[in-house]
Amino acid sequence: MSVIPGVNGVRPLGDGPPTGVRPLGGRAPSGVRPLGGRAPTVGIIGAGPAGLTAAYVLAKEGVPVTVLEADAEYVGGIARTARYKGYHFDIGGHRFFSKSKEVEDLWTEILPDDMLVRPRSSRIFYKGKFFAYPLKAVEALLNLGVFESTRCVLSYVRARLFPVRNPRSLEEWVSNQFGHRLFSIFFKTYTEKVWGMSCKEISADWAAQRIKGLSLTTAVLNAVLPQRSPKNRQDVVKTLIDTFRYPRRGPGMMWEVCAAKIKELGGDIRLGAPVVGCRLDAATGRWTITYESSGSGGSSGSGGSGGSGGSGGASSSGSRRALEVDHVISSAPIKQLVEGLEPAMSPTSRAAAASLRYRDFLTVVLILKDRGLVSDNWIYVHDPGVRVGRIQNFKSWSPEMVPDPDMACYGLEYFCFENDELWASSDADLIDLGRRELAAIGLARPEDILDGCVVRQRKAYPVYDDDYARHVATIREELDRKYPGLHLVGRNGMHKYNNQDHAMMTAMLTARNIVAGEQLYDVWQVNQDAEYHEAGAAGAQVAASGLRMVPTRVR
Ligand SMILES: Cc1cc2nc3c(=O)[nH]c(=O)nc-3n(C[C@H](O)[C@H](O)[C@H](O)COP(=O)(O)OP(=O)(O)OC[C@H]3O[C@@H](n4cnc5c(N)ncnc54)[C@H](O)[C@@H]3O)c2cc1C
Repeated sequence: MSVIPGVNGVRPLGDGPPTGVRPLGGRAPSGVRPLGGRAPTVGIIGAGPAGLTAAYVLAKEGVPVTVLEADAEYVGGIARTARYKGYHFDIGGHRFFSKSKEVEDLWTEILPDDMLVRPRSSRIFYKGKFFAYPLKAVEALLNLGVFESTRCVLSYVRARLFPVRNPRSLEEWVSNQFGHRLFSIFFKTYTEKVWGMSCKEISADWAAQRIKGLSLTTAVLNAVLPQRSPKNRQDVVKTLIDTFRYPRRGPGMMWEVCAAKIKELGGDIRLGAPVVGCRLDAATGRWTITYESSGSGGSSGSGGSGGSGGSGGASSSGSRRALEVDHVISSAPIKQLVEGLEPAMSPTSRAAAASLRYRDFLTVVLILKDRGLVSDNWIYVHDPGVRVGRIQNFKSWSPEMVPDPDMACYGLEYFCFENDELWASSDADLIDLGRRELAAIGLARPEDILDGCVVRQRKAYPVYDDDYARHVATIREELDRKYPGLHLVGRNGMHKYNNQDHAMMTAMLTARNIVAGEQLYDVWQVNQDAEYHEAGAAGAQVAASGLRMVPTRVR
């Protein structure tokens, strides 16, 4: 990865190289800057949105690509659609919405006829009642009842009269703004479930940013003011959009079709191929990627020739295989990539990588008779008595997610840490927990729940703790200096708490850099909305301010 700050001639988006399909051949196609008279070869780690976007853009330019994916069954990464007995479900629910026209256009290009436009419907569930989200003031007070509403009002008045001076924690800050009662009902439980930290420990800065930006203020304003449609997509507050696109068989459909198109273009996609190391040959500048080959997924590339096709030279020893390429694009977690780099990074960078942390996630999928109790896409569960944080109703995302119209399929989402007690529970125990909790909050009769399964997602959220930015900067600086041809993209690949559009944009720009044979774009300047800002101090500031805020600890 080579990032050139303040690079001259940075091109605006939309002015990229043409993307017409060109045949693979022994020579570099026109438009691709050749390396020693041939097209550069590219190995891509991960078949999530970032890896597949990079592969697709490169394959369209005629660049030979090989994608190595750890999962033996699915492409799509966190945006895959898993399947069980004909039921389809997401890891979380994946809305397709981007402020970037290029990303939206790419989705349309991949799935021209299969994208549904879905209404967003999500509510908060608290003590047996549904509350609209964004909140509607009158409905909220009616739902809470006279007694609880009075307590909320009194607690609000008290907070305004006697606020905590210099609030340091989220609890203090939100209680000052809205009163402790409203904080307890609408903030505390869900925030603590998601982040695994007490609101007393979460810094007030996060609340100040979030709530100023969109959360309650926007919600309350939306509740009391007449709504006007935004004039253009840039003005849309992303978390509150009321419609979004969604592939009719879930987000995985996008990435499965994308993978098929890559193969048609001659690219190679190998499933069940976890990468364990990347070695740079300083003399030739070429990379050798070492990966395990389980044999179960195998090569799914039509361009592969006897397992050695795709982008580079291949060799094997036992279950380990090697692929030689000019460029490596990695969407694997930085932590893993650094562990397997040769020559080894400095002890400082290795320690920085080892310090990066993640929050994990599991979904208990329950299949049940549909009694029409829930029409929402998802429900935030604020009840403190249950551990489930959010419930997805996959049939509302798309009817095709469920094979039988009389049945429903819910995804009960639990936020956890890998190897904590919840993560380590058996599937049977988790299904039992899900069943009990769904019945306890009144969203299903126990006898209606007929089947279930569990999907675990490691490293679902890269954690932004106090030190993560410093650690990532340390690693980037050394990678830039010593490891040319290595490109980091995507969510865990760059340790960015992003959506698909950001991951895809970092991949598109990386592909363009490789095609051009020079650093046209600094992918670290892509902000949360998948908008590119030029490198340099001003650009960096804008990009940093576009980062999604996540809680940090009280100092
Ligand atoms: C609960 C939840 C809800 C979300 N909702 C939305 C939403 O509504 N809309 C939206 O746009 N985005 C959403 N996202 C974010 C979206 O899932 C990510 O932005 C996107 O998946 C990132 O793509 P990626 O390719 O960078 O990473 P990933 O999706 O993580 O893909 C990385 C791939 O690399 C593979 N890999 C990792 N290590 C190796 C290795 N060593 N060797 C080989 N392969 C490896 C992984 O198996 C994986 O397939 C959500 C995320 C979560 C957790």
